[in-house]
Amino acid sequence: MIQLTDTHCHIHEASELLQLQTETKKRFLKAGSPRPEELLKNAQKEGVTRLLCVGTTVEDSEVAVTFAGQHDGVWASIGIHPHEAKVYRNNAEMLVRFAMLAKNSKVVAVGECGLDYYYEHSPKEDQIAMLRFQIELAQQHDLAMVFHVRDAFDDFWPIFDEYHKHKPIRGIIHSFSSHEKDLKNILNRGLYVGLNGIMTFTKDMRQLEAAKAVPIEKLVLETDAPFLTPKPFRGNMCEPKHVRVTTEFLAHLRGEDLETLAARTTENAEHVLGMR
Ligand SMILES: [Zn+2]
Repeated sequence: MIQLTDTHCHIHEASELLQLQTETKKRFLKAGSPRPEELLKNAQKEGVTRLLCVGTTVEDSEVAVTFAGQHDGVWASIGIHPHEAKVYRNNAEMLVRFAMLAKNSKVVAVGECGLDYYYEHSPKEDQIAMLRFQIELAQQHDLAMVFHVRDAFDDFWPIFDEYHKHKPIRGIIHSFSSHEKDLKNILNRGLYVGLNGIMTFTKDMRQLEAAKAVPIEKLVLETDAPFLTPKPFRGNMCEPKHVRVTTEFLAHLRGEDLETLAARTTENAEHVLGMR
């Protein structure tokens, strides 16, 4: 039986622990409010035995941590998404609450954090301030990082490098769907590349070329569940179990066998995130 790892999902938001009506929560409600335990079971059946629940706000990160604490094979990443940066930038009390989570034994990473200039739901300077805050927190606690960067690599790299040259940052560029130049910049810094269902339905050949070019020792797999459902399940809610079809697609695209790709990407996830 192959063993796969979903290095990026949000299924903790399906639990009743989260009271807030987030976009993610709404997606779960629309899909008939599956219990997260059911999603874990579905994942296991497809060989997806380990997963990382990724937080996007302070409250959501708290839920991810609690959920991870209740389940074997589940770890948490605590993060303030760039969309949410303006909510927290000047809220010292919430940031203290957030930072406390870093000490929990099930927390292996900080993120998703980064810059999103495509939507720019928060002003750029707030996004940058929250990115800096989270890099500092990760370095202080020796945690990995999960980065979300969209249309913003030009601003991202100088900030990243400023910290990285003092103390190397280990982490993942999540939902990578860019081209060779960005891939080169990622690999030059020793970061890992997270690929998901986008690859199965993209029409952009350059994205696929870049996906092919990711060295197997730097590749990790993810879903971003409940979003980004891979083909042929478009229209359904995305679940961690869908790592399986994305892996099959990538194995075919890259000319690798499924067993090798599964084993290597799971090893990589262990290595970068310490999920073991
Ligand atoms: Zn995400």
